[in-house]
Amino acid sequence: MLWLTLGPFHAMENQVLVIRIKIPNSGAVDWTVHSGPQLLFRDVLDVIGQVLPEATTTAFEYEDEDGDRITVRSDEEMKAMLSYYYSTVMEQQVNGQLIEPLQIFPRACKPPGERNIHGLKVNTRAGPSQHSSPVVSDSLPSNSLKKSSAELKKILANGQMNEQDIRYRDTLGHGNGGTVYKAYHVPSGKILAVKVILLDITLELQKQIMSELEILYKCDSSYIIGFYGAFFVENRISICTEFMDGGSLDVYRKIPEHVLGRIAVAVVKGLTYLWSLKILHRDVKPSNMLVNTRGQVKLCDFGVSTQLVNSIAKTYVGTNAYMAPERISGEQYGIHSDVWSLGISFMEPLQLLQCIVDEDSPVLPVGEFSEPFVHFITQCMRKQPKERPAPEELMGHPFIVQFNDGNGAVVSMWVCRALEERRSQQAPP
Ligand code: ATP
Ligand code: MG
Repeated sequence: MLWLTLGPFHAMENQVLVIRIKIPNSGAVDWTVHSGPQLLFRDVLDVIGQVLPEATTTAFEYEDEDGDRITVRSDEEMKAMLSYYYSTVMEQQVNGQLIEPLQIFPRACKPPGERNIHGLKVNTRAGPSQHSSPVVSDSLPSNSLKKSSAELKKILANGQMNEQDIRYRDTLGHGNGGTVYKAYHVPSGKILAVKVILLDITLELQKQIMSELEILYKCDSSYIIGFYGAFFVENRISICTEFMDGGSLDVYRKIPEHVLGRIAVAVVKGLTYLWSLKILHRDVKPSNMLVNTRGQVKLCDFGVSTQLVNSIAKTYVGTNAYMAPERISGEQYGIHSDVWSLGISFMEPLQLLQCIVDEDSPVLPVGEFSEPFVHFITQCMRKQPKERPAPEELMGHPFIVQFNDGNGAVVSMWVCRALEERRSQQAPP
């Protein structure tokens, strides 16, 4: 059984799932499914085939909280859709709202044309056994999911995060100074990533850090990790953020260039957003680039609190292979230094070894990567900070322009496949 076993979804497994199949130009058909999490991609195509018998449907789409359409073409993508849907159901439950059906939009190879499907009787075949017949329904109210998501963020941002409400689950990883846990936030039913850092500092400094972190509530970009709140308990700070089910980029091997390109676009957009708020990231590296099965890419761990950065630096040695030469030699740090780290983050780990301050900048092997990609990396990694591309030049670079097509499905599919492979390698024979 490959179903993602994220905690609160267990409770959802037994719930009836209503899938609203939107028909182009003619309303929708509601399909009640009694075994939602076991539902396969084929089952859905089968039912769509009955609703739209004249069209050859090969895929369907759903909408994320921003109203962007995400395509589903496989069981993995089905799982991503269902886990997204169940998280919105939890939000609706927390907010005491009516549960919205899961709305899908069939994508036909051949347009079905104008059809009056009202009154059409549809029987589901034996395949998806416990699923009952679809029924015709009216159109549904728009953007209520968006609203509930924003409201939840507001509730969470109102300083309501505290240790008592959090149940720590798995350890996601240890870093230079902290440990990140996957955790369950009881009042909201939301899964979080909580970073816990031990800090022996005065109450005064604790207050300063908390006020410096305030800006995170204002960060509102789909390329920056969502921030839910932070609190101190004794000598440790817990920083609660959005959980990304694909984890960080450092654990992925051999990312194909067409995927890497889309990831790079998101990272450049995230950095440009931070720079526009006069925030330098200061720790750009693959482990601070997170991905999820919805194909989103988000930056985390940026240096929004000088005091937090300083307090961690006192305890831990703060150099790594992604730091710009001027940073290592103690010179001034600026946007250009973030740009260096951006460039080096997208190089193969092997080449990182060559990257020593006194030597020439590392180069990518010729022939293996496209010319725009090699040029992009080389420009980001010019030894002289001023020679590196400025933010607007990054966005206008042919490598970024080429992949700036908003095709989240490419990343989503790749994350789903990689997670699937990882799971099958971990599973006992
Ligand atoms: P450093 O402390 O130097 O930044 P790091 O980034 O590897 O190093 P952490 O920031 O402590 O260390 O993160 C540890 C690991 O936790 C990351 O490598 C990542 O895989 C995982 N992680 C962090 N934040 C999240 C998140 N929001 N969602 C899912 N996984 C996360
Ligand atoms: Mg990190």
